[in-house]
Amino acid sequence: MALLTFLGAIQQVTGSCYLIESRDGARVLLECGMRQGRREEDEGNRGPFAFDPLSLDAVVISHAHLDHTGLLPRLAAAGYRGPIFATDACCELMELMLLDSAHIQEKDAEWENKWRARKGKPAIKPLYTIEDAEQTLKLRRPLAYGECQEVAKGVQVTFHDAGHILGSAIVELQIQDHHLTRRLVFSGDLGNTCSPLMHEPAALDRADLVLLESTYGDRDHRPNGETLDELAQILQQAHKDGGNVLIPSFAVGRTQDLIYYLGRFYQEGRLPQQAVFLDSPMAIRANAIYSRYHEQFDITDPTVPKGKGRKRIEDWLPILRCTPNPEDSMAINRIKSGAIIIAGSGMCTGGRIVHHFKHNLWRNECHLVFPGFQARGTLGRAIVDGANTVKVLQQHITVKAKVHTLGGFSAHAGQSQLIDWVKHFDHHPELYLVHGELEKTQALQQALRERLNWIATIPDQGEQVAI
Ligand SMILES: [Zn+2]
Repeated sequence: MALLTFLGAIQQVTGSCYLIESRDGARVLLECGMRQGRREEDEGNRGPFAFDPLSLDAVVISHAHLDHTGLLPRLAAAGYRGPIFATDACCELMELMLLDSAHIQEKDAEWENKWRARKGKPAIKPLYTIEDAEQTLKLRRPLAYGECQEVAKGVQVTFHDAGHILGSAIVELQIQDHHLTRRLVFSGDLGNTCSPLMHEPAALDRADLVLLESTYGDRDHRPNGETLDELAQILQQAHKDGGNVLIPSFAVGRTQDLIYYLGRFYQEGRLPQQAVFLDSPMAIRANAIYSRYHEQFDITDPTVPKGKGRKRIEDWLPILRCTPNPEDSMAINRIKSGAIIIAGSGMCTGGRIVHHFKHNLWRNECHLVFPGFQARGTLGRAIVDGANTVKVLQQHITVKAKVHTLGGFSAHAGQSQLIDWVKHFDHHPELYLVHGELEKTQALQQALRERLNWIATIPDQGEQVAI
């Protein structure tokens, strides 16, 4: 019979990786994600793969986030030259994400090697290079949603819209096992049904085995309307205070949602600021990809202009100014009030947002808005936790700006939405909970038992099950 091995994102959120082996010997890797967060995770990313990369027939990817794709260049560096299947929009976003990731890897190694040289220590190699990422990108094979494709002998893949970010997919795998067809469904990252741009995750009803993500397995998100009202109030207050508003944001997904919401405020006369700066080259490039795939959006909001204006993200917000060049970015420093500045990185671990901190964080009249989760150990988390001073670009800065955390902008389904999605399956498939910290998966496991009387399993790292 066919086998499934749980290799990554087991009792944790990052590093998604699953191996499927058919009875006829076909080997398909589902996801090749990078582990993110603490320093030890970096060791995990550098370790050998738990399989022989050259033995794989195909790789299948659910969506472009690095915790699902980030080790693909290492796979290519290890000699893998087979196909990498993903949706068409995911293939484009992967180019943006993997080249950026490779650039960071090269820079990090270069920086570390400088101090290693001073201490007489041997140099390290980057996790992978831009060349490795470019090699990976040649292997992409785009598929449309709903298109069924044989990816290896006796293994067929169909992508369904997961509504998480552009091009994100629920992955349905059909595996031939003699006269039987076994069906494995991997939820990927399921979108929040409140997301303004994405469709609701597609409901599937047939599976023998389901892998369900459980990032927010322990809670429901705050209603979207409340979060938007809170954001609108913060913007009004910042206007009264006469300061700027800084928003650290992820380039893909969160930024496009924010521009959409600010566009809505603008139409409704609820946006007192004069300019919104998108100061992130990566987010600007992501906007272009989002705009190209505008037909995949699910915009039903009547306040968004119809026709041509719907297509380009920039057209949603007439006062949006994109600043890809460093000179334009630096010019923003001269503006002391009335601006909203959206910049990366999302957790303030680098990027242009830290430069804006230098000019705004010590000012009483400024406001800092975190639209997403800040992981432990990041500068963003230190500020959220109430640090009085922080070290930014070798300088100690007193935090005087007002700090706000918004809870309702998650791109992930909350607990009830996860349960609503999984209950569409007939005949109670075998259910495994992945992609969530242990307490969250346990909370979801309990809720599934109480609400659906379903038994779900939390697998162990490296565990193998028959499909
Ligand atoms: Zn994701």
